Amino acid sequence: MHNPKQVFSETDGMTDLDIADCLNETCPWSGKPVQADSLTEYDGHVVGFCNPGCRDTFEAAVRHFKAAKAVRVDR
Ligand SMILES: [Zn+2]
Repeated sequence: MHNPKQVFSETDGMTDLDIADCLNETCPWSGKPVQADSLTEYDGHVVGFCNPGCRDTFEAAVRHFKAAKAVRVDR
């Protein structure tokens, strides 16, 4: 099956995020408008950044906190 609407390159499964669903309109680092190729998911929401570098910085922080949370189980 070939889908002619699928024009974006799919490299790492991030293409199902839609900028229309993005919570924020500007990058938290720079204040610039978010870009469709710089989205990620946070706590079930789509959040955006001005470029993939800003997104990767955020993703690294989220991964770090999730890892910390995983070892700190509430009793
Ligand atoms: Zn940015």
